Amino acid sequence: MQNFSPPNFSRSPNERKKPNGGIKGAIRENLETLRNTPEAFRLVWTASRSNTLISFGLTPIAALLPAAQSWVGKMIVDSILGAINQSMDINVGLRMVLPYVAVEFGLLLLSTILNSIRYLSNSVLQSHLTNHINTLIIKKAISLDLQFFEDPIFYDNMQNARRRADSSALAIMNAILQIVQQTITLVSLVALLVGFSPWLAVVVILAAIPNFISRSRFSEMAFRALTRRAPESRLLNYIETLLTSNETVKEIKLFGLGEPLLARYRQLFTAFFEEDLEISRKNTFASFGWGLLSNLAYYGSYIWVILRALAKAITLGDMTMFLSVFRQSQSAVQQLLDSFNRLYESNLYLDNLLDYLKIEPVLALPENGKIAPAPIQQGIQFRNVSFKYPGSEKMVLQNINLFIPPGESIALVGLNGAGKTTLIKLLTRLYDPTEGQILLDGIDLREYDLKSLHQRFGVIFQDYVRYQFSVRENIGFGQIEDLDDQERIENAAERGGADKVVAELPQGYDTILGRRWEHGQELSGGQWQKIALSRAFMRKAEVLILDEPTSALDAEAEYEIFLRFRELMEGRIAVLISHRFSTVRMADRIVVLSEGRIHEIGSHAELMARDGAYARLFNLQAEGYR
Ligand code: ADP
Repeated sequence: MQNFSPPNFSRSPNERKKPNGGIKGAIRENLETLRNTPEAFRLVWTASRSNTLISFGLTPIAALLPAAQSWVGKMIVDSILGAINQSMDINVGLRMVLPYVAVEFGLLLLSTILNSIRYLSNSVLQSHLTNHINTLIIKKAISLDLQFFEDPIFYDNMQNARRRADSSALAIMNAILQIVQQTITLVSLVALLVGFSPWLAVVVILAAIPNFISRSRFSEMAFRALTRRAPESRLLNYIETLLTSNETVKEIKLFGLGEPLLARYRQLFTAFFEEDLEISRKNTFASFGWGLLSNLAYYGSYIWVILRALAKAITLGDMTMFLSVFRQSQSAVQQLLDSFNRLYESNLYLDNLLDYLKIEPVLALPENGKIAPAPIQQGIQFRNVSFKYPGSEKMVLQNINLFIPPGESIALVGLNGAGKTTLIKLLTRLYDPTEGQILLDGIDLREYDLKSLHQRFGVIFQDYVRYQFSVRENIGFGQIEDLDDQERIENAAERGGADKVVAELPQGYDTILGRRWEHGQELSGGQWQKIALSRAFMRKAEVLILDEPTSALDAEAEYEIFLRFRELMEGRIAVLISHRFSTVRMADRIVVLSEGRIHEIGSHAELMARDGAYARLFNLQAEGYR
């Protein structure tokens, strides 16, 4: 099998380089790790104040428990020894020891209760946070212009933002809480030790350092590997999606792509795996070495403590406390390291979300925009309109001049890529022209309130949506306020030709469409189109725009609909794109677009008489039917 490398994907924000080199670099790295903390806190705080407060309030208490437990342990041992040394009566001795045992039990109980409360409040917080962040993401998506969604890099980033965003905000907060908690714990433990022997305190801290260094080196290695192969990871995800999604399954099966693509997947995966294994191997050896060093320090001081105890310089209680403190401080250091690692990773994920949320829509909206006219009095005017897509150099439309009076139907024809759909996107103000103006009743589209402008258009695009909801909703979404107006829905269904489809469905207008739900009813392409057409007719629109929504209808059904078109339009403006000239010829005027320019314009009869491009295309198609 040939070697396989991914296409050159653009870098997403989460593929940031980690700064490197020297102590300064290390400090900068650690500060970098913290960069999203304020934002994470803000998100968590907004999601649920009470639960955030609970988490914060309980942290210091939990942090001091280990030191308290070590100290009580010492007191228990010392009081037992005291009782033995003074040859006390068992009952008297017990009375001396029992209070400490009770305290220790109390501490244990406290720690259990604290943990349960924190666990509970964390899960509640997690739910709130998921809800909060998903709402933010969706709201942002609603506010953004079409151009963002048509930009593959942005689209990719948005998908990345959604991935793990909620859990990373919480993970950052938890990691910080852990860091605070473990630091307090460490300080309190060391404080206990200082009272006992300052040297031991120093040893505890020193013993932690090797571990710290080796761990952070390892996490950096792992991160670098992750960064370097981000493009391959995306490819891995892509192949996985290809092989498991319902949109691709037909081709994958019939072209026999399953096994070959799986082989590519495996090849990439194996490469990753080997790299990870190498890092883990190095890490294992390093941890073993450094861990041994820590243990040597531990046992060295252990022996010193034993000697002191034998010499009666310290009590057995002191010795117990030392053992407990040393163990606890090592585990605190360990958790501190883990928290830093998690903090680092979560920050990377949160980057995606924060970058996404910062994006602002680009379509300039007017303050106090005018309400778009209904009915349209003068018509629509394209004045010297040229357009290129953002990030592209090619003029897709050039110098378009076109006037559409009220009540006229216009057909757009032209080869694929001629610019027909783009023209519609400009007319409906999904994009603004790069040059020139589009006027509605003499006023630039940009001066209208966008919502009221959109209300004037009933548009069905080629890639109209097959809502996996009921028929009623599929049609009613054309005018969402009238979703309960059965008469209006039936009327629209009749005009779009969906009434006959509905008649055959088990639950009529309440039938759920699509295969997504268990009792969903799948329709044929042509049936879906009739539903979509009816949705366009549902709208109280002044301009009806149909961008090839009839391509899957049989010629007869399409003919029938357009035969009644004038009547269906009720004097509104209609713009239709179709490749069927039998339909096109019924329009009042036909605009022939070629490479972004208006090539010809006129009625069917005029254009046929002219014997130009339109006549040639028309005859070509008519030829095919003969
Ligand atoms: P038609 O509808 O006539 O087939 P379009 O309006 O869809 O043509 O496309 C016109 C040209 O604009 C094509 O060259 C197409 O590649 C380009 N184009 C369409 N959409 C985009 C986009 N979102 N970004 C960049 N170029 C685009």
